[in-house]
Amino acid sequence: MNDRDYLLLTPGPLTTSDTVKQAMLFDSCTWDEDYNIGVVQAIRARLEALATTTSGYTSVLLQGSGSYAVEAVLGTALGAQDKLLIVSNGAYGARMAEMAALMGIDHHCYDCGETAAPDVTAMEALLLADARISHIALVHCETTTGMLNPLAQVAALAARRGKTLIVDAMSSFGGIPLDVDQLGIDFLISSANKCIQGVPGFAFVIARRSELEKCAGRSRSLSLDLYAQWRCMEDHAGKWRFTSPTHSVLAFAQALRELDLEGGIAARYARYGENQRRLVAGMRALGFDTLLDDGLHSPIITAFYSPQAENYRFGEFYQRLKRQGFVIYPGKVSHSDCFRIGNIGEVYPQDIDRLLDAVSRAMYWQH
Ligand SMILES: *Cc1c(COP(=O)(O)O)cnc(C)c1O
Repeated sequence: MNDRDYLLLTPGPLTTSDTVKQAMLFDSCTWDEDYNIGVVQAIRARLEALATTTSGYTSVLLQGSGSYAVEAVLGTALGAQDKLLIVSNGAYGARMAEMAALMGIDHHCYDCGETAAPDVTAMEALLLADARISHIALVHCETTTGMLNPLAQVAALAARRGKTLIVDAMSSFGGIPLDVDQLGIDFLISSANKCIQGVPGFAFVIARRSELEKCAGRSRSLSLDLYAQWRCMEDHAGKWRFTSPTHSVLAFAQALRELDLEGGIAARYARYGENQRRLVAGMRALGFDTLLDDGLHSPIITAFYSPQAENYRFGEFYQRLKRQGFVIYPGKVSHSDCFRIGNIGEVYPQDIDRLLDAVSRAMYWQH
């Protein structure tokens, strides 16, 4: 095995299939209909079909990483009089609060701590106390800790109180079944290089058409104007306003075909779940503890406490795993010393078994 031949156990970019990588070996013409209609419009339709079985939703693709699309949604969906309630229990919720502050968007950050799920009763009290709150933003899977936030409960609250719901489903869409219409999600954000298993380069938004239609002229930014991007794709059959990441888009089209071949989102969810359960059971058998209680875990990524041994260093552990063909992720939790292991991408239960062997050999602090 050469040095570059390793499996990414990270929350994206992640290990993609050879066929997804090979799909990029073509230079598309961005005004030709082979690309705009044949690839871009087909992707949009497929994303809408994956997100819901009913009509009333549309989709927009946007250049950049996932954060660009989050910023585009916040900056485009909220009008000057609107106020946003941000649920924050990790780095991605905190990033939304930072974006809102920078764009001068009126907001309240409900911080429930990194290892606790949001309390929907407390959120309802916040809504009742401040009638100006018009929108709620929630991270579905908080990749910082691996926590799966209670989307159905928050969605029911938004519906009950008539609030517009924005969901950062970056690390869950394509890997966890959901229906945007049944849940009443107005804007759902995800990106190419997470559970759809494409390569980095763009993000996408599934939006309730009637909500997006209200957003003309609201954007705080030119290039992150989600409405203008959408109009361009609608009016010019899949055309991007500015240079399109053509190779990433081709890879994504292939990744969507492979999602179908796997058996769709339900089958992928089952695989990720199996990966995660095997990982946690195996790591516990080796003496590691998870940061979160089992009831809070997502099948996407898991945070483990670092060993308490004097001579443990993440860097050394990381290198020893990398030499055996696995790349893991450092922790991102502010108050606890952790590392993280993801199980999304081209990662299968037998890979997790091999990883567990590699971990047992890499535990130098015990030898
Ligand atoms: C990956 C991710 C993002 C976006 O991060 P980028 O580095 O901008 O791609 C946002 N939210 C969550 C929950 C994520 O996992």
